[in-house]
Amino acid sequence: MPQRILIIGAGFAGMWGALSAARALDLAGRADGAVEIVVIAPEPFLHIRPRLYENDPASMKAPLSALFAAVGVRFIQGAVEQIDVDAKTVLTRDGAGVGSTLGYDRLVLASGSRLFRPAIPGLAEFAFSVDQTDEAAALEAHLHGLAARPATPARNTVVVAGGGFTGIETVAEMPARLRSILGTDSAVRAIVVEQAPAIGPDLGPGPRPVIDTALDAAGVERRLGVAVVAIDRNGLTLSDGEHIAAETVIWTAGARAQALTAQIPGERDRFGRLHVDRDLRVPGVAGVFATGDVAHAATDDIGNVAAMSCQHAMALGRSAGHNAANDLLGLPLRPYEQIKYVTCLDLGPWGAVYTEGWERAVTLEGKVAKDLKHQINSEWIYPPPADRAAIFQAADPARLVVA
Ligand SMILES: Cc1cc2nc3c(=O)[nH]c(=O)nc-3n(C[C@H](O)[C@H](O)[C@H](O)COP(=O)(O)OP(=O)(O)OC[C@H]3O[C@@H](n4cnc5c(N)ncnc54)[C@H](O)[C@@H]3O)c2cc1C
Repeated sequence: MPQRILIIGAGFAGMWGALSAARALDLAGRADGAVEIVVIAPEPFLHIRPRLYENDPASMKAPLSALFAAVGVRFIQGAVEQIDVDAKTVLTRDGAGVGSTLGYDRLVLASGSRLFRPAIPGLAEFAFSVDQTDEAAALEAHLHGLAARPATPARNTVVVAGGGFTGIETVAEMPARLRSILGTDSAVRAIVVEQAPAIGPDLGPGPRPVIDTALDAAGVERRLGVAVVAIDRNGLTLSDGEHIAAETVIWTAGARAQALTAQIPGERDRFGRLHVDRDLRVPGVAGVFATGDVAHAATDDIGNVAAMSCQHAMALGRSAGHNAANDLLGLPLRPYEQIKYVTCLDLGPWGAVYTEGWERAVTLEGKVAKDLKHQINSEWIYPPPADRAAIFQAADPARLVVA
């Protein structure tokens, strides 16, 4: 029986974790079948979540089967329901509902995050989202369906709840997206609601003037310092009593680590992420690593912590896979570190804004930043080619994507 590195999730962290683990086995001369790398996820596709606010979200996924086959990673289609850290097993269920138990020698939890939906009346029934591919596809179908409805102000209005990173990217796209569906002369409205007194509260003051310029250019209205208190079939109600008539409400506010984190003993942060050490191990839980959006991980020695972002998930994945493999082989581990932090925020037809550092100093804006965003979203975050040498080069945990 081969020893097994089991990776839960085939997102940015899980995919890179598997490729990096394969690289580590190869480097150690141990790609001999004595250790197998297994990835379990509902589909053999990398879902490109950062692009789900764009047109045609159903196409935003990249196949993984050839990639995994090129480096000997075994893929199991299914979802993990239970983790038993004492027995070192997981219970999985496949698409047909058949359950099975799988053991592991090292476990890498990379099951990502989900949009947080608070108990606001009507949210579950009436709000759309761009969090998962099927949800974004449902929004797309709804938007196209609006064209067949009577032309009312409510039909022509989209409200985005949450003025953070995802909410801003989503609302900035909406006027042009609506006009492309309803007609270029349609009187469309796009409104963003943010309960903090300023747009992009977590982005800080640096990029805010650029964001405001772009939203003004797109004609996006802001409702700041008010919360959504109810959503209904015809719109939503704000905490100041205003009711906005809108046939499309998109909820974007907040993310939480995927629920399997609750089955692993350990400290969790306010997003449900497991605290990990610098090697990305869950302290006190033998053989378990956490990575990507499920991990609360220090990026440096001065107190910065990885964001729930693709940028961090890719590097966290490479480190976790490498360390899980080396740990199993008894080789030295490589502490995770990601000193440089950047953000590139899409601002619709106006352009984008690119910032550097945790203070988010603006270094590019407008079209030049938009060109960079396009490159990030169409090249950098996609899997490498299904070629063993190219994969191992890209999967090096020491690789700096943004230097
Ligand atoms: C609209 C939007 C825009 C974004 N924009 C940006 C951006 O511009 N820049 C940026 O850096 N980040 C952005 N992000 C965040 C980024 O997408 C996430 O941080 C990233 O996807 C996290 O990667 P991950 O691998 O940890 O998780 P995910 O990508 O969520 O992958 C999780 C994987 O785990 C699988 N899984 C879940 N549960 C189970 C289970 N029980 N069993 C087995 N498998 C399971 C899933 O199917 C998936 O394969 C955006 C996100 C959204 C939604």
